[in-house]
Amino acid sequence: MNTGSCNACDIEILATLMPRYDAERFGIKLVGSPRHADVLLVTGTVTEKIKDNILQVYEQVPEPKLVIVIGGCGSTKGVFQESYAMAGPVDAILPVDVYIPGCPPRPEAIIYGIAKAWEKLEKLQK
Ligand code: SF4
Repeated sequence: MNTGSCNACDIEILATLMPRYDAERFGIKLVGSPRHADVLLVTGTVTEKIKDNILQVYEQVPEPKLVIVIGGCGSTKGVFQESYAMAGPVDAILPVDVYIPGCPPRPEAIIYGIAKAWEKLEKLQK
C-alpha cells in the first residue's frame, strides 16, 4: 500500500515482480485483496489523510500477518521529518516486522527483505 510514497519504491516493487527479477519463482505473489495476503508491503511515510485507510487495510489481512516497510520514508519519515501532513513513520501506526532501507531499495533488497519476513512468518505458523 502506498501511504504517501513518491512512487519510486512502488516502481521497484513492480520491477521485483516482473520477469527480470521474477520474484514468483520464490513463491512471492501479488494478490488482489488484503484478505488473501500474508504480508502487507507499505511504501512512503504515512500521511494524516491515509492513516485510517492503512489501519483498515491492516485489519483485513488475516493472522498471522507481517508488515514490511519499503524505503527510507516509511522507515524513518525521511525528508518529511518536519511536515505537518505526516503521521508516520509506519511503525508509529502499525507493528512493523521488516524494514527494507533505500531510496528506493533495489529489487534484490526487496527480495531479501521478503525472504527474511518469510522466515519470521514460518516461525509464527508453527
Ligand atoms: S524512500 Fe525514496 S523512493 Fe521511496 S517513497 Fe521515499 S523518496 Fe520515494
